[in-house]
Amino acid sequence: MAGSLSIDVFNSGYKPIPGGPGWADRTPATWPASTSTLISGDHDAVLVDALLTTNEGERLAAWLQTTGKRPRAIFITHGHADHLFGAGPVLDTFPGAGLIASDQQVVDESRRQTTPKAMANWNSRFAGQLSQSPVVPALASSQEFDLEGHPLLFRTIGAADGALATIVHVPDLQAICSGDIAYNNIHMWLWKSTPDSREAWLASLDAVAALKPSTIITGHKDPDAPDDHATRVLGPVAALHRGLRPDGGQVQHAGRGDRRHAHEVPRLRQPVHPVCRGIHPVPLLTTACGKLTGITSTASCRRPVNLPRGDP
Ligand SMILES: [Zn+2]
Repeated sequence: MAGSLSIDVFNSGYKPIPGGPGWADRTPATWPASTSTLISGDHDAVLVDALLTTNEGERLAAWLQTTGKRPRAIFITHGHADHLFGAGPVLDTFPGAGLIASDQQVVDESRRQTTPKAMANWNSRFAGQLSQSPVVPALASSQEFDLEGHPLLFRTIGAADGALATIVHVPDLQAICSGDIAYNNIHMWLWKSTPDSREAWLASLDAVAALKPSTIITGHKDPDAPDDHATRVLGPVAALHRGLRPDGGQVQHAGRGDRRHAHEVPRLRQPVHPVCRGIHPVPLLTTACGKLTGITSTASCRRPVNLPRGDP
């Protein structure tokens, strides 16, 4: 008989970054806190995502050693560097663990993060902190992983923050590692988004909600987030943007989390919508400095979000 499963989350915390286009110089910019999730049986485990910097990878490896579990695989949810460049120290510490992705597109997009142009971009933000030869995941041989008798299901979902999004579904725990489809107390990455891209992202949120998880471990999570409850993560207050109120009122400033991400979406205006109660696919977005352009300010609600209702 299979033993029980457990989930433990390593959180990188926020990292300072030097700045970027349209960011207010006076506002310290940070990279969102990121997660790496250990799904464990009695002895073996699967790690989901592997953070960004070498230091983070080393801290992650040290943390894994304290758990006493043996990672058999490191699953990468999507091909963005901040979820995979930290894998090296973990692979060095646990050479029996394979770095895998469940969709060829994730493999390809991961590889594209290692081109000279992409590396130059990442190095400009994290100079001297990154592996210059990051390991790229290989395609998993199956969409299902047997962890001591428990199935872990790898699922391709669709669009999210610019790369193809896949998830790990753990039916026995009603849990999902969502990668960057959903965030927890951290805003969505809507910079450069379009109405079409937001619509596609909302469809991915719907697909996650349709699996009826009780727990969602998000790819980026505020260390102070109260929990990983799926309704709260996907629901009215925290789902799309921290600070968007269920009554749909205007939000002049979305709070502490957004000051830490003033380069992205520090200021949200949310039009009332009678059906979706303020959870709206096209928020009006401006930055505190007002410089950021390219965000569509159209706010026609084409489709309410089909997410679980409940107390936020
Ligand atoms: Zn990310």
